Amino acid sequence: MIYNKSVAFDKKVTSMTEHFHLQEFVCKCGNCTTQRLNIELPLALEDLRTLIKRPIEINSAFRCPMWNKTQGGKSDSEHLEGEAVDCYVKGMDGIELAKAAWEAGFRRIGVAKNWCHLGVRRISNGVNYKVWTYEDVKIDWVKKELGLK
Ligand SMILES: [Zn+2]
Ligand SMILES: [Zn+2]
Repeated sequence: MIYNKSVAFDKKVTSMTEHFHLQEFVCKCGNCTTQRLNIELPLALEDLRTLIKRPIEINSAFRCPMWNKTQGGKSDSEHLEGEAVDCYVKGMDGIELAKAAWEAGFRRIGVAKNWCHLGVRRISNGVNYKVWTYEDVKIDWVKKELGLK
C-alpha cells in the first residue's frame, strides 16, 4: 500500500485504524479547520502498536504553520504535513520506544528521554534513515543502541 502524499481532511471525520482515531492527529491550536495527514503515519503506528502491544500516546501530530512556530518546530517540520507524531508509551523510555519503532519500520526517529518523534516522510538522496536526539540524550549512544554505525 503506497500513499506518499499528505491529504487535507475535515476534522469531523473520525474513522482511522484499529487503535487510532483521527482526532489524535489534529492540530492542537484549536483554530485551524483544515488538517493534513499522511495516511502512512497511522498505518506505521498501527504496526508499532502491534509490535509493542501497548497503547501509544500522541502528544503532537499535525501542526499548522502558526502552531508549529509556537511549538518551536522547524520550518520544514514533518508535523506541517501530518507526517510525524511526538509520542510516548507508558513504561517505556525513549530509547526503548525508538528501538521498537526502528523494528516496526520507522526511519525518521528523534529520541528524547521519555518520548520519540516518529516520522514517515520519504528520505531521498540515498540516505536511508535520519536519527537525532532531544534533551541531553547522546546521539552516539542512540545509534549504537539501534545498531547503526
Ligand atoms: Zn492549527
Ligand atoms: Zn516531532
